[in-house]
Amino acid sequence: MLLIKNGRVLDPASKTDAAMDVLLDGDQIAKTGPNLSVPDAEIFDATGLVVAPGFIDLHCHLREPGQEMSETIATGTRAAARGGFTAVCCMPNTQPVNDNASVTRSIVERAAANAAVRVWPIGAASVGSKGEALAEIAAMKDAGIVAVSDDGKPVATARLMRQVMDYCNPLDLPVIDHCEDPSLFAGGVMREGAASVRLGLKGIPAQSESICVGRDVEMALLTGARLHIAHMSNAKSLEYVRSAKRVGLRVTCEVTPHHFTLTDEDVRYDARYKMNPPLASRADRDALIAGLVDGSVDAVATDHAPHHPASKDVEFDRAPFGITGFETALALALGELVHTNKLSLMRLVELFTTGPARVLGIERKIAAGQPADLTIFSTDRQWTFRASDSASKSRNTPFDGRAFRGAPVATIVAGRLAYRR
Ligand SMILES: [Zn+2]
Ligand SMILES: [Zn+2]
Repeated sequence: MLLIKNGRVLDPASKTDAAMDVLLDGDQIAKTGPNLSVPDAEIFDATGLVVAPGFIDLHCHLREPGQEMSETIATGTRAAARGGFTAVCCMPNTQPVNDNASVTRSIVERAAANAAVRVWPIGAASVGSKGEALAEIAAMKDAGIVAVSDDGKPVATARLMRQVMDYCNPLDLPVIDHCEDPSLFAGGVMREGAASVRLGLKGIPAQSESICVGRDVEMALLTGARLHIAHMSNAKSLEYVRSAKRVGLRVTCEVTPHHFTLTDEDVRYDARYKMNPPLASRADRDALIAGLVDGSVDAVATDHAPHHPASKDVEFDRAPFGITGFETALALALGELVHTNKLSLMRLVELFTTGPARVLGIERKIAAGQPADLTIFSTDRQWTFRASDSASKSRNTPFDGRAFRGAPVATIVAGRLAYRR
């Protein structure tokens, strides 16, 4: 048994914010309460620390199978544990694509053998994520997927989205879309605007994303299915999500730490600033923060997208999109949102726990009988992130060398310490 003593328990599900102890017995939470005393339990002293439900990341790329040069399930989940994540949802754009039950099973088996945290696979919506035929969604659900997505690309057409939603609706699976209009995206490498003109880089207008969000909301209206917008980057997209929520559609969205931290003005000729969707305008960044504050945004998700150093160390135009994200997510959220007094600590915890859990249709709370998944963190600890110290195989982050206040201290998965600082 593990007894977590003297922590500040923050549990959005029960609106608890109190000094309390938490007793773990095996893989379950046994008991919570003030001044628990259990003679033979191992003690974790959480004095001065926040004890939260286990963080869930709705969006990452673990690259296994097929691109183990960039990341593996073992290295990616160790980085996730260092970031405080107890469960991560991995996108299907591996090689082969996770578009059938045998690939799903192999990911589940590899995770059982090698992962530091829980791995919840996301299945492809279409075969090979090619946007043509529907993937084997029901068989993948039986094998363990928690959602479907053609991430890396949008679900190709409104007609296909309708089919995917009609198929997923009775299975109660959320459809996650990477929203982008290929005709507007058209080979762009950063957000279109004054910054792209100044840098002489081909821009992508905000409408590339928001047109597709609008389309998807229309399809959610038509089908009643669960829709989740991945890595939402701009104000117009957020307005579509807000309008969908107002009329009671089951539409949710996530925002990444880099989109609430950086803007297109931060972009330089360095592929560590190249991601998709690209860094947006300052007005968009501020709109996303407003959405995080007022509840329109459901979750913070990393879109952890490791790339082998050799592939990123090329001209901006030629580099692949994406940055790593597990190990800096909490510290960026604390620094940009909580220490600036924009967001309450309770709301931050919600965005990493009950928020993503609701998107997946599951519970997440600190109560007897619940899985013993907890994230224990400091809001004050000073540290500097060094990409070279990362547990990830990849180093593609614009936050290398950044000084932070606040960090994960322990990540507990099924009653076991997956990480301890
Ligand atoms: Zn994407
Ligand atoms: Zn992604």
